[in-house]
Amino acid sequence: QLTEIQAVGRDVTDLKQAEAALKASDARFRQLAEAVREGFFIFETTTAQYSYLNSACRAIAGDPTAPTATDEDYARGMTHWLQKIHPADRDRIEQALQQERQGQNFSEEYRFLHPDGSMRWLHSQAFPIQNETGEVVRIVGTVEDITARKQSAAALQESEERFRKAFDEAPIGMSLVAPNGQFLKANAHYCQLVGYSEAELQAMTFQALTHPDDLGQDAAGMHQMLTGHLQTLEMEKRYITKQGTAIPVLMKTAPIRDASGQILYFVGHIQDLRERLKVERMKDEFISVVSHELRTPLTSIRGALGILDSNVFQDRPDKAQHMLKIALSNSEHLVRLVNDILDLERLQSGKVPLALQVCEVLDLLQQAVQSVQPIADESGIPLTYPQITQTIEADPNAIVQALINLLSNAIKFSAPGSPVVLEVTTTPLALQFAVCDRGRGIPPDKLEVIFEAFQQVDVSDARRRGGTGLGLAICKNIVQQHGGQIWVESTLGEGSIFYFTVPCTVPLQPQQQESNSICLNGF
Ligand code: ADP
Repeated sequence: QLTEIQAVGRDVTDLKQAEAALKASDARFRQLAEAVREGFFIFETTTAQYSYLNSACRAIAGDPTAPTATDEDYARGMTHWLQKIHPADRDRIEQALQQERQGQNFSEEYRFLHPDGSMRWLHSQAFPIQNETGEVVRIVGTVEDITARKQSAAALQESEERFRKAFDEAPIGMSLVAPNGQFLKANAHYCQLVGYSEAELQAMTFQALTHPDDLGQDAAGMHQMLTGHLQTLEMEKRYITKQGTAIPVLMKTAPIRDASGQILYFVGHIQDLRERLKVERMKDEFISVVSHELRTPLTSIRGALGILDSNVFQDRPDKAQHMLKIALSNSEHLVRLVNDILDLERLQSGKVPLALQVCEVLDLLQQAVQSVQPIADESGIPLTYPQITQTIEADPNAIVQALINLLSNAIKFSAPGSPVVLEVTTTPLALQFAVCDRGRGIPPDKLEVIFEAFQQVDVSDARRRGGTGLGLAICKNIVQQHGGQIWVESTLGEGSIFYFTVPCTVPLQPQQQESNSICLNGF
């Protein structure tokens, strides 16, 4: 029988309120965690299970909208997370995880195989939570997909690398200079040109490098750029190298500004003008020599014809005949000169390839000797050549022309009756021709220059002896086209030996000639 009911009433308001507060806080936490872009997880170390994964985290581990996927699936997915890490990153991550288990924070970037099959870059941060005894019971962390950032960083790095290479390896001097003139950067070509290292330049201003006479124009240009009156400055100026030589350069510079229009620095190009100026000088010299060479015989012709035309020698046929002879020999000289100039131009342009064929060396020697025999006979000069049986692959006309030029020089510069000998030596690699005379010889300082166009030992040589001053230049070109070499050995007053070689195998591509080619092409 129930006699008594004892009731214990406990006010659970606080409890209920606390429960409600906890629920509310949990809901708020979930709302927040679901809304953030980063993946967010809580891992219980005691059960080795994820107790919470937000949707961003699931997106990384798998498709969160897949109807069959449960939290456990994702949890399992996350457990297998380590296996999905790129093998190259896995060891590093495992090491960091070990440290994490000992209570250290984790913050790593690594590649991860996304469920869609793509390789993603992730950044994970995790914070171990320890109980009172210091044991790690839980790990909370974030995971962020940083693939896009990584890709743009890589693209940026690649483009920077490309730009740096283009700058460093540009075949032209390039520099970046602060508005006060201080060097910020200079590429290898620039350093090589001025003789300073990049570090040395960075402690200098471009003004310190500039020739004092060019400073004014330079400063005026810089001022105009700084005040916005000039977009780019282009000037020819001289730099003084570390070795103290002044080198002419063409400088082009332009300011680089920030978004607000403020000048950050100047980018500049310099181009070495030494070669160009040298070529221009050579061309000028060449044109003046050629015009002089052409004008001299023309003046003689014009003079002789003028006298004939005036009829002053009407009653002096011998004098009139003499005038005609002058006009005739000068016009012949003019024809030779023009032919030689055209020959040299044709050879140097490389446009007409050698007509190579196998020829009998003896034939070549005979042809050359035959053509100079009349002038040798005029001076009673005995001409000898070897009865050689040997073939050679060469352009026969060109070789005969070279031999004629050398033989006629030997005859021209020998005293009457003095012998001229043509020799040929065979080596396994080449044939060597030698034209020996006992003429007046060549001074040592002229041994090389005489192979250049219009270079004579004596200025009167060409005209007095009927030469054009181009014979040796033509020989040099012919020999070089065959891949051979030409030189002279001589003793003043005793005689000269001109040598040239023709290799047994002539290169297929004719060698590009350096000397005078630009002048003649421009002629
Ligand atoms: P050219 O003979 O028409 O003047 P070349 O180019 O053939 O022109 O020769 C250039 C110069 O080299 C000659 O003017 C002469 O001063 C010198 N030279 C050439 N061959 C000889 C030689 N065998 N002996 C002495 N000097 C020579």
